Amino acid sequence: TPDAAVDTAAVDTHCPYCSLQCGMALRPAPGSEGGVAVVERTAFPVNRGALCGKGRTAPAVLSSRVRLTEPLVRRPDTGRLEPATWEEALDRVAEGLAATARAHGRDAVGVFGGGGLTNEKAYALGKFARVVLRTSQIDYNGRFCMSSAAAAHNKAFGLDRGLPFPLADVARTGCVILVGSNLAETMPPALRYLTELKESGGRLIVVDPRRTRTAEQADLHLAPRPGTDLALALGLLHLVVAEGRADEEFIARRTSGWPEARAAAMAHWPEMVERITGVSVPELRKAVRMFCDAENSMVLTARGPEQQSKGTDTVGAWINLCLATGRAGRPLSGYGCLTGQGNGQGGREHGQKADQLPGYRKLDDPAARAHVAAVWGVEPDALPGPGRSAYELLDALGGDVRALLLMGSNPVVSAPRAGHIEARLRSLDFMAVADVVLSETAALADVVLPVTQWAEETGTTTNLEGRVILRRAAVPPPPGVRSDLQVLGGLAARLGWEKGFPADPEEVFDELRRASAGGVADYSGITYRRIAEEDGVFWPCPEGASTGPGPHPGPHPGTPRLFLDRFATDDGRARFVPVTHRPAAEEPDAEYPLFLTTGRVLSQYQSGAQTRRVEELNRAAPGPFVQLHPQLAERLGAAEGDPLAVTSRRGRAVAPARITRDIRPDTVFMPFHWAGEGRANTLTNPALDPVSRMPEFKVCAVRVERAVG
Ligand code: SF4
Repeated sequence: TPDAAVDTAAVDTHCPYCSLQCGMALRPAPGSEGGVAVVERTAFPVNRGALCGKGRTAPAVLSSRVRLTEPLVRRPDTGRLEPATWEEALDRVAEGLAATARAHGRDAVGVFGGGGLTNEKAYALGKFARVVLRTSQIDYNGRFCMSSAAAAHNKAFGLDRGLPFPLADVARTGCVILVGSNLAETMPPALRYLTELKESGGRLIVVDPRRTRTAEQADLHLAPRPGTDLALALGLLHLVVAEGRADEEFIARRTSGWPEARAAAMAHWPEMVERITGVSVPELRKAVRMFCDAENSMVLTARGPEQQSKGTDTVGAWINLCLATGRAGRPLSGYGCLTGQGNGQGGREHGQKADQLPGYRKLDDPAARAHVAAVWGVEPDALPGPGRSAYELLDALGGDVRALLLMGSNPVVSAPRAGHIEARLRSLDFMAVADVVLSETAALADVVLPVTQWAEETGTTTNLEGRVILRRAAVPPPPGVRSDLQVLGGLAARLGWEKGFPADPEEVFDELRRASAGGVADYSGITYRRIAEEDGVFWPCPEGASTGPGPHPGPHPGTPRLFLDRFATDDGRARFVPVTHRPAAEEPDAEYPLFLTTGRVLSQYQSGAQTRRVEELNRAAPGPFVQLHPQLAERLGAAEGDPLAVTSRRGRAVAPARITRDIRPDTVFMPFHWAGEGRANTLTNPALDPVSRMPEFKVCAVRVERAVG
């Protein structure tokens, strides 16, 4: 494909999938899939033109045969979803939600959003829930993604932005410890930064119970038992202190809480950590040497350590390691989280989280309520308080939450203990789902609203670096399809709010800017014009703050690197958080003797609602599998491809064996992109982290047998 810079007919935009938000351009191409051709956009600095197969094939979903192009309403006489007009469908949704609120109270209506929604949609959905429905029961699937890292970030730094530095810094540091990320498959263009790191003499340490494609690149691969990343980090910190590698000057000048964190780490002897994690003391020492010998170093975490019932503490332990070694608050060093979903960062900033208002403001903060209420033109007292977290909300469906409006999520596949959640969804009095295809969750709805996709609409997202970017409409949507903003506007009007829910994304963004002004995630100085001119602007970016020369003399330039002078805590110091090891909520025992861990594969994305409908991706990754070690396969008498039954306390899944030495013998792995009998999340444990309310997707106990029949 030619470069967008020389293709004047091409429209600059971004991939609809993961948090890298790779830049691409789309050129009209009648007759090809989606009516557009993907054009490289080498000028966008994050991916520099590179795309993975998911991004390259994304236009296929635009013209998919299974694309929804008319609303569906479940008919009482047939019990089936059948075509309806938009008027009828929106009337049904408004009445379904209002009737439930009348009968059972406002909190009987739930709203469930998604980390793939644009900033404008996330903002409008949160406002709709709190102003129109006045329910406290709103949360989103991002709670399942990186909420533990967000909580740990807030505790330590007073602010949560996935990466507090541009991704390109990764190539220029001296050592990276990558914990629980298989970015070679989940965000392949990011791998080049690790390659460049190594080419310039830097070192890569990968922590993962599996030898993934990413771990293959490592100078040192540590393969701890699932659920023991916290103990591993404590063991490394113990050795940092014992070997005199702590940066006492940095600790004294820029942090607080070291004595308690130090004492907690010193209680975790390396030999004890070896017993807990299975990582040997020499490997621990080697990791400490590599990390501390480098002038600059970083720790990057992803879902591995985060999706645990102690995820917040686990991430906190890795942050402690950075702080104790002075690897934070300066260029080319620090801690960062590789967010997962496309708008995983922005999705948590604008008010679709159970406890937050736009600008990352706390819902229980009176000043925050007053600010946002003034923007919304309501009294602060009219805003509901914090609600339940995502799993708790889904678990309450059919109980005291009796109706649900769901956008941009497919919990039948992606929620933990998915069989139970599917039953809860089925037990609702009323459910409306807005989606582009009839996902497994949409198929259970009373009303399905067909909505526009990435290339058919304009809107902003915020990538894993905190860079606010603009996706532009490149093709018109099919007739019969409306945008999520139009849907919310139509519902709001039916529920008595003629104004306040515009369909124009830029108008929504301008209101979002005002709502975020003065908040932690301040977007007030970011405009569509600036994003277009600068190809992205990093928050915080307050309006009117003059900072001298730059591409925009006068306006704030945005903040690519955080914490260089001070951390965002009240006293400007980063906070050590004392943490101690504890086991997973469910450890293997005689009945369920193995660990199960779950994750993603290269050619599918999240619940697969989009990617499972792309032929090329399906050929590459046609279905689930159970990855297991040859020793375990031999014990089971299983050969490659044999159907295996994996059973946990929550259910049973069946998928073919994939035998490899790239996994610990005590662990099996399943990807979670599929529904049906191979649904990995049938098995997963919804034990929640006490702070972030993140479920423990990454570790539970299972039994594996050859499936018969
Ligand atoms: Fe899209 Fe992520 Fe692939 Fe980039 S790495 S093309 S953003 S799925």
